[in-house]
Order: sequence, then C-alpha cells, then structure tokens
Amino acid sequence: MNRKFVDLHLHIDGSLNIAWMYERARKRKVIPDNMSFEDYYLTLIPSGEDIKAVFDRFDVPLAIMQREEDIHDCCYELLKEISRDNVIYAELRFAPQLHTREGLSQEEALRAAIKGVEDAMDDYPVTANILVALMHQGDSAAVNYDENMESLLLCEKYLGHCVCGLDLAGFENNCDLDEYAPLFKIAKEKEIPFTIHAGEMGNGENVRKALNMGADRIGHGINSIQDETIVEELVRTQIPLEICVTSNLYFGFTYASHPIHELIRRGCKITICTDDMSFCLNNMAYEYNMLNKVGISDEMLDQFTLNSIEAAFISEADKEVLRKQLKNA
Ligand SMILES: [Zn+2]
Repeated sequence: MNRKFVDLHLHIDGSLNIAWMYERARKRKVIPDNMSFEDYYLTLIPSGEDIKAVFDRFDVPLAIMQREEDIHDCCYELLKEISRDNVIYAELRFAPQLHTREGLSQEEALRAAIKGVEDAMDDYPVTANILVALMHQGDSAAVNYDENMESLLLCEKYLGHCVCGLDLAGFENNCDLDEYAPLFKIAKEKEIPFTIHAGEMGNGENVRKALNMGADRIGHGINSIQDETIVEELVRTQIPLEICVTSNLYFGFTYASHPIHELIRRGCKITICTDDMSFCLNNMAYEYNMLNKVGISDEMLDQFTLNSIEAAFISEADKEVLRKQLKNA
C-alpha cells in the first residue's frame, strides 16, 4: 500500500539525516578531523540511565545549526527526506533560542528556517509549517522567560508564513509546568494555536495542566493513563494526543505495552508522529508498520492520519487539500 502520512510532531534538530549531519559537521569543523562516522553516530546514543542525557544529544545537531545557511539547509534536507517517505504534511518544531550561539538573533534563525521550508516546498511534493518551540531551560520558567517571550512574539509575527503555532519542549520535569501558564495565557489572547509536551517523562498531572492552559493538542500525553479523570477529560474534549511510540521506548515500553493501546480503547483522539528520527531511527512508515504488527488495524491507522489532518494548525481549506491527496494515494 502506498500510504501517505501526516506528521505533527517532529523536531528539526532531532530528525536530520545522520550521514548528512556528519558531512556538514566535518565541513564546519565542529567535530575533530579524525572522527569517524561510526564515532559520530555513537554520540547520538545516550549513555547511562540519566534521562537528561537524552537531551544532551541535541548538542550534536545544534552544533551545525548556528548559521543561517546551515539552518536553511537542515530544514530543506529534512523536508526532502520526509517527502520521499510519503509525508504530505508536517509540523516541524524549531526553537529559535537554541540557534543564537554564534550571534544570530532569534528572528534571523527563524527566518532562515522559514526560507528552508519554503524552498523545499518549491522543490518537493510536501507541505510544512513550523511550530515555534518555547523551551524549558534551567529549574524555573523565569530562567529564560525573556527568550520564550521573544519566541512567542516572533511566532505571532510570522503566523501564517510557514509558521502555524507554538510548542513547549525540553526537559519536562525541570519545573512546575504551571510556571509557563502566563506565556500561554498571552498566546491564547493572541489566538496562536499551541501544543505542549506534557505527560511524556512528566506525570499525568502535567497533561491536566496543559489542558487547563488551553492547549489545542498534547505532545505525547501518555502518562495521562495514570489518572482516570485526565483520560476522561481527553475523551470528552477530544484534544488530540501526538503519540510517538518509538521515541517512548526509552522509558521501557514495548510496541505492545505502550499506553497507546489503552488510550485507543478509552476513545482518545490519537495522532501518530516520529518525534526525533535521528535518535529513534524511525520514520512514519516504520511507526505505522510497528503498530500494525502489534494489532492496530489498517482502518484504525487510516483514521489516525485523518485525525492528524483534523488536528493540524491549518485552515479547513488546506485540510481538504490534504484529504484529497490521501484519497488519491
Ligand atoms: Zn517532542
């Protein structure tokens, strides 16, 4: 079957082709001259039990994402790759504040990403938008409140120009999720759509907090199964969950034991996403195949794709275009 996919949850910095990253890292001399591809590849594998090591891996791609040309090319190459993987629409997470280490402003970084997306859409049969990611940094939301506010205002400025909304990413347990409520209150007032990483490594209560902030979607949300009332709220509101099964295997699940099965059984609105393809070594087809192998039917998988279209931060007319593309596949 020539299935087409919609991916609403993938991080640009976590999803680059590793061989391509290695070449760019050599060109930019951000790795030792004599570093082999194998050794470079191993830097992407977290060591030890420290969950924060998962986040240290992002330093590898971020080292080559500090110039406008490189940010542009990363976005371009990623879209080229996913278009070949039959993704017809994607929402790409990008945190401008992580791309200012060599002097770029957040706005310059975001504009470079937008240009990369636009150029790729000209050349390949794929449509994409950027979700501007606010970041957890340090042990309080106050640590980078100004940077997050700057990102939020940039999102507002470029909304509708290859930018479709906000996300909150990073180490979920750094501080109380409620500390970010003031930022999302402003986003609500400005009518910016947003999704929040919640209930991935954090507890189910974070999903409730994200729902209370008015999140339009939940990134992961799998730990909502810890609390009956949160699942009930997800079922009642039909707020979509962006489920990234392979990414969650790090927490000890298998494809068969992942909470997705319980969330489906309870009637949650499910979308399937890749999260970080460089670390997960996955793509959308892989996710669908693995879920199919553990008993999720083709019909259900088709429904997940329709759910993703419905949940996308795009106009109804644009959703209809995607539905037609699916039908023609
Ligand atoms: Zn994520």
